[in-house]
Order: sequence, then structure tokens, then C-alpha cells
Amino acid sequence: MIALRPFLASLLLAGSLLCSAAPAGAAEDYQSLLDNAEELRSSEPERFQSLVGELNARVQEATPAQRQQLRYLKAYELGYTGRFDLAAEAAIELMKEVDDPRLRLRAGALIVNSYAIARNFPEGLRYLDQTLLLIDRVPDTELRSHAWFAAASLYTQLGQHELARHYAERVLEASTVPRTRCFAGLQRLEAMLHLGELAGNDAETRALVDLCDSQREVLVANLGRTLLARQWARKGEHGAAIAMLEPRLPEIESTRYPRLVGDAQSVLAELNLALGQHAQAESYAQQAVRQSHDIAFSLPLVNAHRVLYEVALARGDSAAALGHYRRYAEADKAYLDSIKAREQAYLTIKHETAQKNQTIELLNNQNRVLQLEQQVSAKSTQATQLLVALLCVLLASIAYWAVKIKRMQVSFRRLAETDALTGISNRLHFSRQAEQALDYCRRNREDAVLVMFDLDEFKAINDQHGHAMGDWVLQQVSAACGRVGRKHDLFGRLGGEEFAFLMVGADAKAGTQLAQQCRENITAIDTANTGARFRVTASFGVAATSDASYDFQALLARADEAMYRSKREGRDRVTVHGAAMATPGVLPA
Ligand code: GH3
Ligand code: MG
Ligand code: MG
Repeated sequence: MIALRPFLASLLLAGSLLCSAAPAGAAEDYQSLLDNAEELRSSEPERFQSLVGELNARVQEATPAQRQQLRYLKAYELGYTGRFDLAAEAAIELMKEVDDPRLRLRAGALIVNSYAIARNFPEGLRYLDQTLLLIDRVPDTELRSHAWFAAASLYTQLGQHELARHYAERVLEASTVPRTRCFAGLQRLEAMLHLGELAGNDAETRALVDLCDSQREVLVANLGRTLLARQWARKGEHGAAIAMLEPRLPEIESTRYPRLVGDAQSVLAELNLALGQHAQAESYAQQAVRQSHDIAFSLPLVNAHRVLYEVALARGDSAAALGHYRRYAEADKAYLDSIKAREQAYLTIKHETAQKNQTIELLNNQNRVLQLEQQVSAKSTQATQLLVALLCVLLASIAYWAVKIKRMQVSFRRLAETDALTGISNRLHFSRQAEQALDYCRRNREDAVLVMFDLDEFKAINDQHGHAMGDWVLQQVSAACGRVGRKHDLFGRLGGEEFAFLMVGADAKAGTQLAQQCRENITAIDTANTGARFRVTASFGVAATSDASYDFQALLARADEAMYRSKREGRDRVTVHGAAMATPGVLPA
């Protein structure tokens, strides 16, 4: 196993190198060291290890990105020294924490390679999926080759030769790095051997051997030579194959890699057997059996036992032949079992993955249903909000119209109550208000007085100055008398040029005072601004409740009677019903 590790570790190295631009300043030296370590990690493992040690000691100088790169190199070093599980663990941590897709892809490839070698296939496949997903985010084709190479390695270990060939071909399409092409080329040809596709045309195999020789990859070059020897044997060129492979045997044995040594020896055994050189064949086969002793299920072992059996048979040694045949059958069965076991393992993992994916899909669907439910409830919330908004709008418009209608009602009522020309109460409204006020006075035994007046010779104003002048006079009179009296006194136009006051809580004397004030205000109306000069006067009649009932019509009739008395007695004066005639400006006696 000691000899196995360097080869497996060198598989880890088969990807291309990641070159980082060196930043300026203090970190430059550190970056140069990192670049150096990246460059030397496969060709000079010991120097690489000492560089990693130095980088680790000077980690304070590193930028965060450089620290991450160092972590990758340390994980890689663990794999290189055969601690594949630790390498995978370190790379998993790194993959979790790093954002840069390039470093994540390198870490992912390291995980897959480590698990492939440690034969932890479920984890290897799991991380392979994650690593391959990163490929679209990494434009660098050499870096992408890391992931494809790891895939090819894992599938080779799993006996999935079609997939191994597929990914090896991706590497060969993408990478221009000779070492990478050497390793991937071997993966592709070995996959083809297993698939029975390695035909007689040996050009590609020869090219691979030359390429790997040029890269001084002794191990891979000689694995290529054993493939070449098999191809030549198939063409019947056994002698040439022995001549090609046999001189390489010391070099092959120096690698101490059992699979290569065993394979070369067993191929040489088969070639010698085919040429009838039984002693040579037996010797190589025995060496191959010894070499493959640790590996219970290798193809070279199967072939070696078969050669030993055939040699014994040719010698006529039936007992030995039987023994060899039994071992041959056992090795063959073990080999087939191992193939079946790997196939089974692969199918199991795939099945589990498919089941996991189905579970994930199921969960996703449940999530989608939940999301839809949330959307529906959000929609219904929206609908509720819309309904509330609509209701608010409806209520607002109802309130608006209620206010508007109320205002209209108020304005209609005011219109109905108001005299259009003068703006004071009209007859109907004045009468109603006066009736109510008199009612109140009767119930509370309070006095009230009605003052009524009629403009004098108004027809003459109309006739002489026009109807518009008459209107103007009516407005001036209502303004002049509207100012007179107390706040709660009622004032209205009874019709034509007739007006009236009703004073609550007042007697004939107060009524007469109000009438006199009003009369004076009327005579003070200045007509000069109209362009005409004429005098405006009015005749007043006062009727108090003290000498009559609280009946409005009766009170009105008495005030009217007093007013006509004012007319008859010369106009422009105040007469109190039932009292002596009042003279202008003079209170009745
Ligand atoms: P007297 O002093 O006896 O009351 O005489 P007079 O001319 O005021 O009385 P008479 O009843 O003969 O005339 C009232 C006039 O008032 C008749 C009518 O044309 C006029 N008149 C009534 N209402 C209005 C009105 O709204 N505007 C105008 N300009 N004139 C009106
Ligand atoms: Mg009149
Ligand atoms: Mg009149």
C-alpha cells in the first residue's frame, strides 16, 4: 500500500495548476511563495511540503484570499500523504466557507478524488454532483478539467466505464496541459479496454505512451505499454509485444505499484504462453500471482492463474492443472464478484440519490402548495383590504352625500324662508317664528310687541324713478332697520313695501322706541348716489300683547290698524294701538 499511495496521490495532482496574480506590496513575497507551492506540488513533493510549512508559519502576512488558497494546499497535502479522509474533511470545510467558485471547484475535485481513492462512493458521488454544478460558474477550462478528471477517477473506481470515458474525453477536449492529458488519456483507454472498444488501432495508445514518457510519468507510460502489448497480442504480434515490454520490466518494478507490476507480468506470461514458451510463461505468471497476492480480485491475477493452469495442462501435470484451475476459477469468481459488487454499489447509490431527489421534489411540491396557499391567503387578504377600502369609499361617499344633501336642504329651507330681494325673513317664515314666539310668551306670561310699517308713497318712487330704484329702496330700508333692535327680535318683510318686527319680553314702549329708531334710519337713507333726490319715509303701527291676546293674526290686525292711523294722520310717524297718535320723533304719551 506504501507504493500505491504516491500513484493515487499523483492522480490528485493530475489537474492543471491554478496561477494567481501576485498582488503588489508586502504580500508579494507571500503570493510568490504560494505560486511556487502550486507549481511544485506534483513535481517536487518534498519542496512543496516545506513550502506549505513556511506559508503556514507566515500566515499573518496572508490576505483572506491567500489564507483560503493555503487551506486548499494543506488539504491537498493531506491527500498527497495518503490521509484521504482528512483531506476530504478539510476540503469540505473549505468548500462550505469559500465563495469563489474556482476555489470551491478545486476543493470539490479534491473531495471527489479523495473519496474515490478511499472507496467512499456515496460521499464521492454526492460531492461530484455539487462540484459539477460549479462548472458553469468557472470559465477557466483547465480548472473545469479538475472536476471532470475527478469524475472520471470516481467512475473508474465504480466500474462505470462509459461515464469514466465520457469525463476523460471532456478533460481531453478542454485541457492543453500535457500531464493532465497523459492521465486523462490513460483513463479513456482503460475505460475503452473494459468496454471492449480498444480495437487493433494502436496509434492512440502509442501517442499516449510517448506523451507520458515526455512528462516522465513512468507509471502511466508503462500502464499504457501494457495496453499496447494487449493490442499487439490481439493482432498476433506476440514477439514484438514481448520485445517492447520486457526491457521496461526493471523500470516497472521500480515503481512498486502492484497493479502495474502484476499487470505487466501477467501480460508477459500470456504473450509467452501464446508463443509456446511455457517456462517463461510460468515464471511471469508466478511473479504476477505473488505480486497480486494482496489484491484478491484483479484481472492480472485471474490471467496469471489461467496461464499456470494451461502450462500445467500442456505439461500433462493434471493434478497441478486442477489446482491451478481451481485457483483460476476462484480468482475469476472473486474478480466478477468485485465487478458485480461495485455495480451493485453504484446502482444502490443511484437509487438512493433518485429517492432523495424524489423526496426533495415532493418537499418542493409541498413547498409550492404552501406558497400557493400563502399567495391565496395573501390574495384573500388583499380582497378583504379591497373590500374594506370599497366600504370606506362607500361610507365616505354616503357621508359626503349626506352632508351635501343636508346642506342642500338647509339652503333650500333658507331659500324658502328668505325674501329674495332683501335677504330677511319672508312673510311665511316671519309669521311662523312670530307664532312660536308668542306661544312661548303666553306660556311664560311674558310681554311681546309687534311693530309694523309700510313705506309712504312708494308707488310714486316706482313711477318716478323706475322699478329698479324701488327695489334699491326696499334693500336700503331692510338694511337700515335690520340694524335696529335686539339680537333676538324677529324682523321680516310681510310683502310689497310692508315690514314687521316682533319683540319678545318687550312692551309697547320698547316697541315704540324701536319703531322710532327704524323710522329715523329710513328718513336718513341718502339717495344722492343714485342720481335722484327723493325722501324715503314709512308709517308705523305698534301693537303690544298687553292690550290684546297672544294671537299673531289679531296682533297683526291691530298693528295694521295703528299703522293706517299713522298714514291717515300724515305718514312718517309711529302710532301705538289704543294710544294717542304718535308724532314724528316723539314717543306716544
Ligand atoms: P301709501 O303711502 O298709501 O302706502 O302709498 P303707496 O304708494 O306706498 O301705496 P300703494 O299700495 O298705492 O302702492 C304700493 C306700491 O308698491 C305698488 C307696487 O307696485 C309697489 N311694489 C310692491 N312690491 C314691490 C317690489 O317688490 N318692488 C317695487 N319696486 N315695487 C313694489
Ligand atoms: Mg302698502
Ligand atoms: Mg305704501
